[in-house]
Amino acid sequence: MRRPRVQPSNTSPQVLIVGAGPVGQLAALLLSHHGIKSVLIDKRLTTLSAPKAHAINARTLEICDSIGISAERLRQLGASANDGGNVRFVSTLTGIEFGALPYERQDEGALAYTPFPLSNIPQPVFEETLADHVRADPMIDFRRGVECLSLHDAGDHVDASLVSLDTGESDTACFDYAIAADGAGSRIRQSLDIDMEGPEALSNYLMIHFSADLRPLTQGRRGVLYFLFEPGVNGTLIAYDHSKTWVLMHPWDPASERREDYDDERCLALIEKAVGHPLPETTVENVSPWTMSAQVAEEYRKGRIFLAGDAAHRIPPAGGLGINSGAGDVQNLTWKLASVMRGEAGEALLDTCAVERQPVARNNNEQSLHNAMKIFDLMTALHGVDPDKSAERYAVVAQDPGRFPEVAAAVEAQKPHFDSFDLQLGYRYASSAIFEPVPIPAIENVSDYRPSWDAGAHFPHLWVTRQGKTQPLQACLPADGFTLLAGSSADSLADDSVITQVRFGTDFEYYKSWQDLTGLPDSGAVLIRPDGHIAARFDRVEPGKVDTVMASILARGA
Ligand SMILES: Cc1cc2nc3c(=O)[nH]c(=O)nc-3n(C[C@H](O)[C@H](O)[C@H](O)COP(=O)(O)OP(=O)(O)OC[C@H]3O[C@@H](n4cnc5c(N)ncnc54)[C@H](O)[C@@H]3O)c2cc1C
Repeated sequence: MRRPRVQPSNTSPQVLIVGAGPVGQLAALLLSHHGIKSVLIDKRLTTLSAPKAHAINARTLEICDSIGISAERLRQLGASANDGGNVRFVSTLTGIEFGALPYERQDEGALAYTPFPLSNIPQPVFEETLADHVRADPMIDFRRGVECLSLHDAGDHVDASLVSLDTGESDTACFDYAIAADGAGSRIRQSLDIDMEGPEALSNYLMIHFSADLRPLTQGRRGVLYFLFEPGVNGTLIAYDHSKTWVLMHPWDPASERREDYDDERCLALIEKAVGHPLPETTVENVSPWTMSAQVAEEYRKGRIFLAGDAAHRIPPAGGLGINSGAGDVQNLTWKLASVMRGEAGEALLDTCAVERQPVARNNNEQSLHNAMKIFDLMTALHGVDPDKSAERYAVVAQDPGRFPEVAAAVEAQKPHFDSFDLQLGYRYASSAIFEPVPIPAIENVSDYRPSWDAGAHFPHLWVTRQGKTQPLQACLPADGFTLLAGSSADSLADDSVITQVRFGTDFEYYKSWQDLTGLPDSGAVLIRPDGHIAARFDRVEPGKVDTVMASILARGA
């Protein structure tokens, strides 16, 4: 083997991360937080400019904040709740409104469940913020303009074939582990022969990214998404920033049309129809085709190579769960990888990533697909079922939509699409990395998040008092190790324990009793993993028992 261009350190274990999209960057930052160096490569020379995602949900913001990426700062970079707090069902942007719904939980009430409610942050802004942290992190060797041609699991290391797009030089480098965060078309996934389950091509869209100040036209009717129903318009407007950044998602048929058919003139005409008003100064920034899929990889791991983010699942954007699912993937993977690399856990711990994360991706996929299909109910309520009479029916309904109860009912039926609080915060794990996990209940209502202290659930958010200050419980727990959150009369662990012990009533205070909160006696405790999921519950703290549970969770000796 020739000398590797990307030289892994002899002394520190290293992970190669292929793809510096949001998920790859978060993986590198999380690994660094756990003390692991990584090499992060991307074939792109710059951050993505197309504003794809906008919904960065509460759990993703919590993850960011736990590793020093201020969630408050991120939220300031996003749209205000006034601008991004609603979705609207309209004929055109400035035309008839058939109904509106709140967009996810951005209200004050959400603060009872999370310190950082969802914010609409354009993907490039989110990625650039992550990139600032990546560039400032000495544990991350970040290289743009480097493409990974293939990864090969060699048993005790990974060989990566890399090419510099600048010089054209290629080389092979070896790493301890690799994470493929190379997006929906993942070349790595394909080269590993990992199949996807679920439909590959559901519908096709052109993402027409344009700059225009449409704020004066949306006065009194702000929203983040505008679903358009005027005959001949059809599609969705996404308002990333009402004053400048918009996308028109325009359905198209790549079998009968070519991307080149959509020049600026044609795109401007489509935008004008969607807006329903003469356009102010408008620039078409980019037009990119995009196919909606609903797929989950059959495997998330091949030996020392892991899939994460869109490489592992292609979730329809109707639900805003793409990046957010990926953030959960790498939060789950990185602490496990770090534990194995530090020799604290057995390799089998790494098998639990797929066991825990695949069901989350499947649920998110299923609901997002359902959301995408449900919009057709509203289409039917407005246009009827007979294509020949559609224009006639629409003209009558549009005269006075209030006369048609099926329109209001179809708007109401879209609610779960725009309130998936339980999917965002309520997912649980059941694997060998949870001691005596509770069987995961089927999701009945994606909006109904019920905080739980059961093994497998994420610890509930609480506003606690610490040193006289009101803080989220999250701020009292380390995010890089295990915590034993113990009742006031629980025994102490040994001083040399690797687990941080945090005591209810001493390290922080809360208005409810420990027992009311957790259902455990004051002698009891919950063991919390570095990713915030409850690994075990104890009626009393017996250090030997805690050690045994840790050994089981971490697959020591397996
Ligand atoms: C219109 C639209 C709206 C969306 N809205 C939301 C939303 O509101 N919320 C949400 O959570 N998600 C949303 N999504 C989904 C979200 O955009 C994706 O889930 C997200 O980009 C996935 O991140 P990723 O890092 O896994 O992959 P990507 O963002 O695709 O990044 C992959 C990176 O890998 C690099 N790469 C690929 N192959 C190689 C290689 N061989 N070598 C080196 N580098 C490589 C690429 O250059 C790229 O930078 C939306 C998507 C669309 C299209």
